[in-house]
This record gives sequence, structure tokens and C-alpha cells, in this order.
Amino acid sequence: GKKVKKAAAVAPSSGKPPVCADSIINLDHGDPTMFEAFWRGPMGERATVVIPGWQTMSYFSDVGNLCWFLEPGLEREVRRLHRLVGNAAAEGYHVLVGTGSMQLFQAALYALAPPGGAAAPISIVSPAPFYSSYPAVTDFLKSGLYRWAGDANAFEGDEYIELVCSPSNPDGGIREAVLKSKSGKAIHDLAYYWPQYTPITHMLAHDIMLFTVSKCTGHAGTRIGWALVKDREVAQKMNKYLELNTIGVSKDSQLRAAKILETVADGYERQPAGATGDASLLFHYAQRQMMQRWRALRAAVTASGIFSLPDEVAGFCTFAKDTVTANPAFAWLRCDKEGVDDLEGFLREHKIITRSGTRFGADPKVVRVSMVDTDEAFSIFVDRLAAMK
Ligand code: PMP
Repeated sequence: GKKVKKAAAVAPSSGKPPVCADSIINLDHGDPTMFEAFWRGPMGERATVVIPGWQTMSYFSDVGNLCWFLEPGLEREVRRLHRLVGNAAAEGYHVLVGTGSMQLFQAALYALAPPGGAAAPISIVSPAPFYSSYPAVTDFLKSGLYRWAGDANAFEGDEYIELVCSPSNPDGGIREAVLKSKSGKAIHDLAYYWPQYTPITHMLAHDIMLFTVSKCTGHAGTRIGWALVKDREVAQKMNKYLELNTIGVSKDSQLRAAKILETVADGYERQPAGATGDASLLFHYAQRQMMQRWRALRAAVTASGIFSLPDEVAGFCTFAKDTVTANPAFAWLRCDKEGVDDLEGFLREHKIITRSGTRFGADPKVVRVSMVDTDEAFSIFVDRLAAMK
């Protein structure tokens, strides 16, 4: 008889175009495609999810939970991962899910700002160099609740919300809140507080902590982030924002993110057969890759002679149980060569796209360069950099 052919899966896009030796290399965004190689290995198959046509149709996931659209499987895997890595306290915290941590950041601004009717919008600050999306997103809708007020180091006053990004995007530094007023509030953006980027030195326990699978596992396209929130009322207000903004968060994405996180933790706790060396250990694999990239970049900077980078720092990582170097997701690259006043423009002439320091509240002699792009793009970048005199 005739074979009945199954409908072909909808083919996913191939993402970014491939690069070759004379391509424009775009390292402007921190698109974490370098981790694809890990997921193409033995763990990739284990992280597969299949969602039949009748599943995930309801808006609701868990009507008894404060965050009623949070998939219980995702909450379980988020808590398990924090227990495994030891980077943040999740016990006693509410877990909220967002469409990327970018949505949760906005939910947190809404929740912490004094309710409408306040005399003036509350000031949103972050120490320079600050993540360029903070001013852009804060002021995009010209909210009457909050307004970007720039560098936290230059801020005077007691009423503010400070954005603390640690390790810092753009410069990789470990940060704590710089403002200490009792009535001030802080949002901790911990997108990069994972072992591949920095030694895990403390189990953090701040009031609002934001994380994302984008930087943890590399699944930026899944658009899933989570918040750990101590205070119930703040969690409720954040949830209100998520409800009004997008009526919850894609369950399909949550299930996929849950599976990815489960696979990561299983890699450590169940030692799957057929995966040798680092192939089942995401953080160890990624840490090694990042370390090799930083070595290659530092060698290129030395070969060129016109650039400089932040000093290398190391610390004891309670997760790796070893002293390891920090390998930030971005290089904060400076050029003090005479005549190069606009480093972004100078690199663009060499077909390398980066983001100017001016976008981060810093000067134009420095740029942010993504360290997490594909192997091909990264290797062309370091070769070009080494040749610049
Ligand atoms: N915070 C920081 C510091 C980031 O670098 C990014 C992504 N570039 C985000 C938040 C947003 O991540 P998500 O993909 O989860 O929205």
C-alpha cells in the first residue's frame, strides 16, 4: 500500500546569515549563538520537546499560584537550577516568568514606582557604564511613573530605583548598589551571574533578582526570563503588569525552557550515558569556551598594540570548586591611539560592528563587543583586530 507521509515540521529560520573572511562581522548585540555547538552535541536530543495540537491551549497554568500563567514545571526547574549552581536564593522567593527578562525589568519598574498621582516620576539610575537598554526601555513610553535619570554615581536624592547589573553589561565588573538610601530601591539584573561568565562567589539574596535563559543556556530566541521576588506585594504588582502587558507568557516557550533547564541539571546530577568530558556539563563546557575566547582576544590585543581591555580577574567559584577567571560576555575594548576618537566608527571601517561607549554613558574611545557570537564570527574578529596597528 501507499505510505502515508507525515506532515513535515514547519522549518525554523536559519537565524543569522553565515560569515566568511571578508564579511561584515556584527558583534553589536549579545546574541549567544556560541552555545549552539553544545546543544548540537549529545544533550541536544534530550532537550527536545514535542507539543501535540491539543496542549497548552488555556491561558491558565496554575490558578492557585500568584503567577497563574507560570508553568509548574518551569518553576520547579528554576528552583532546582539555583540549588545546583548556588548563585541565588530561591527558597522563600516568589518566581515570576516573563517574555525575556526585559519584560520583567519593566514589570519591576512598574511595581516599585510610587503609584500614579505622585508629584513627579521616580528617578531610574544605574552606575555608568550602564546597559544601553536601561535608558532606552525606561523612557520609551514616556511613563508618568518613572523616568531615566542617568549615572547613579552622579545622582543626588533619596527617592530612586537603582538598576544593578552584575556581572555588568557592558564591562563585566561585579557590582553592588552604589546608592544606599533607606527609601531607595534596587533591581538586580543577574543575567550573567552564571559560572561560564564569572566565579560564583555568593548565594545572592536581593529583593528582586532577574535571570534569563538567553544568557544562561543561550536560548535567547525562546524569550523566557524569570524573577525571584521576596516581597509578596511587589510580586503581585509585577504580575499585574505581566497580565496587562501580554496576558501571561507563552506556555510553549515555558515548557521548552523547563526542558532545557532540566537537561542542564540532569547533565550534572544524572551523568547521562554517551556524553563524555564536558559534553553533558553546560557550565563547564561554556566556561572553557569563554576562557579560550578571552585568551584569543587578549593575544590579539597584545599583537595589535593599540587596544586595551579591563584587567583579568579571578576568584574561587563555589560551583566549580576551583579558582577560575571571569570571562565576561562582552569585551569592553578601549583604543587610545592618536586620531581614533570614535572607536565604533574606526572598527566599522574594518567591517566590525560594535556598540559605542557613548550608548552606555561612557566615552567614544571605548566600545562593547559581544564575546558570545559564533566561532566563525569571533575568529574573523580576533584576526582582524590583531592586524590593526
Ligand atoms: N539584562 C541584561 C544585562 C542583558 O544583557 C540582556 C540581554 N542583552 C537582558 C537583560 C535581556 O535579556 P532577555 O533576552 O531575557 O530579554
